Amino acid sequence: MICYLYPETTYFFFSSDAPLLLYYAHIPTIIISLFVGFFVFWNARNSLLNRLLLAITTLFSFWTIINLITWTNIHSSLILFVWSFFSLILSLLAILCIYFIYVFLEKKDVSDKIKVIFLTLLTPSFILASTNFNLSGFDITNCDAFKFEWLPFKIYYTSLGVLAMIWIFVLLVRKYRVATTNFKKQIVLIGMGIELFLFSFFVMVFLASYLTQIGVLQNSELEMYGLFGMLIFITYLGILIIEFKAFNVKLIATQALVWVLIALIGAEFFFISGLINYILVGITFIGIIIFGDLLFRSVKKEIQQKEEIEKMAEDIKRAYIVEKKAKELEIKANEELKNLDITKNQFLLQTQHDLRTPLTVIRGYCDLLIGGNVGKQNKKTVEILKRIQSVTDNKIRDVNNFLDIAQFQLGKSPVSLKPNIELSSIIDEIFSGLETIAIEKGIYLRIEKPKESIVLEADREKIKAAIFNIIDNSIKYTPKGGVDVKVETNGSIKITISDTGIGIPQDKIKTLFDTAFQRGEEAKKTFAKGRGVGLYLSSQIIKAHKGKIWVESKGEGNGSTFYIELPKN
Ligand code: ADP
Repeated sequence: MICYLYPETTYFFFSSDAPLLLYYAHIPTIIISLFVGFFVFWNARNSLLNRLLLAITTLFSFWTIINLITWTNIHSSLILFVWSFFSLILSLLAILCIYFIYVFLEKKDVSDKIKVIFLTLLTPSFILASTNFNLSGFDITNCDAFKFEWLPFKIYYTSLGVLAMIWIFVLLVRKYRVATTNFKKQIVLIGMGIELFLFSFFVMVFLASYLTQIGVLQNSELEMYGLFGMLIFITYLGILIIEFKAFNVKLIATQALVWVLIALIGAEFFFISGLINYILVGITFIGIIIFGDLLFRSVKKEIQQKEEIEKMAEDIKRAYIVEKKAKELEIKANEELKNLDITKNQFLLQTQHDLRTPLTVIRGYCDLLIGGNVGKQNKKTVEILKRIQSVTDNKIRDVNNFLDIAQFQLGKSPVSLKPNIELSSIIDEIFSGLETIAIEKGIYLRIEKPKESIVLEADREKIKAAIFNIIDNSIKYTPKGGVDVKVETNGSIKITISDTGIGIPQDKIKTLFDTAFQRGEEAKKTFAKGRGVGLYLSSQIIKAHKGKIWVESKGEGNGSTFYIELPKN
């Protein structure tokens, strides 16, 4: 290129004579990188990482602009002026990349110490950029300033790029070792992007400029490097965008980005000539398709994962709220139940005390009087006392029954099982208690039980009351004939109580044990006494003993047979 042969440029770099490829390579680079930088920045303006990214993209665009100016402008003073910025931009970019990686890895600003190191490294650039040490002149004939660059200075700022690459590599490796799987992936992607970016700048660009200087490359081929750098940079940004979900870029944006890149690179085939160019663009083109596909899949997967995670988080949150509410309600309900329970228990205890205590006292005094401990009683008095005692016994039993029923209905068992309870003695006691009643009634009461002792796990008083109730009922509802009680053991204990009484209608049999305070019509008519609690209570007690109770009857007037089955000890 010979500067003075170029026509005058408008707006710094528009020249009718400049090859189209030149603009094609530079202008989209500037636009896309600025767009990405601002886009990312706008999504989270307070984030230091986003600001650093904006600084990097802006500097990169600036570099591309001045690169274009140096290629198209004919004013040597302007070229010289902008050329001197190259070193400053490159050294700033190197340091900013290190800074960026620090913030990315540590999620916080760097320490003051590191900032001082950064500034120290940049100082030569700031001081020398505008001096002859950077650039001492311009070759108007050949339209370049390469020969006027001071080599040590060039080595210095090129080394900054290499230093950045090494520094970043060390930081990445150090963090990678202790990172979580997800973060490891981010480190690899970001690391690759930034290292390639630096490589394209500091190695490729300088290699290219060197090769041009020694005549291996022709001028126009140099444009590839700007473009190459841009592509890697865009790659890098694309990865960033994926990884930092805060930007919230959806699949569509990634797709658009990939298509734009493919179109940009593809269009190059129309501008270029020469085998090397075709190979370079061809490789880039294939590369961008592969990368685009990878990027697209990766974004898709990440978005799906993110959405799944968000959904899961939402579900968990909702479940947590529901559970919390349910728990609160449960706690409230439990508290209310507890209060109710306490009140009921208190009431039960109170009733127990109020009703049973005087009855027990009366019974005790009767015992005292009958026993003659407080003076000998005449026969009549003893008879009356015995009646009082019997009535009191019945009342005590009634009270106990009511209290037990109340307990069962509250869902609490009044039964407390103890092992090795002897059944024969219980049966004997019941028999001696009821024998006289049967005799008085003119019916028989027969008991048949094995000679050997039968033991079971039981609440002695409760099981006695349960069996007593059944036999008592049979006597009560049997006007003539009598009651047979049979105790058998065969794996379990079976007690059969059959009577020749009024019988039970079939439709009543099923629900006979279900509720308290229910009485048969016949029973009501014939036998005024009774409250309809005996069967319910007996069945509850037997169930609490892990036993079974059921009844069979051939119908009214044909007697009934009650069966009790209890597990053996
Ligand atoms: P109660 O005997 O106080 O009425 P139960 O709960 O002991 O209460 O009995 C409920 C009902 O079952 C009785 O009213 C009666 O109709 C019927 N029943 C119980 N046992 C017999 C029996 N052995 N023969 C006929 N009916 C009976």
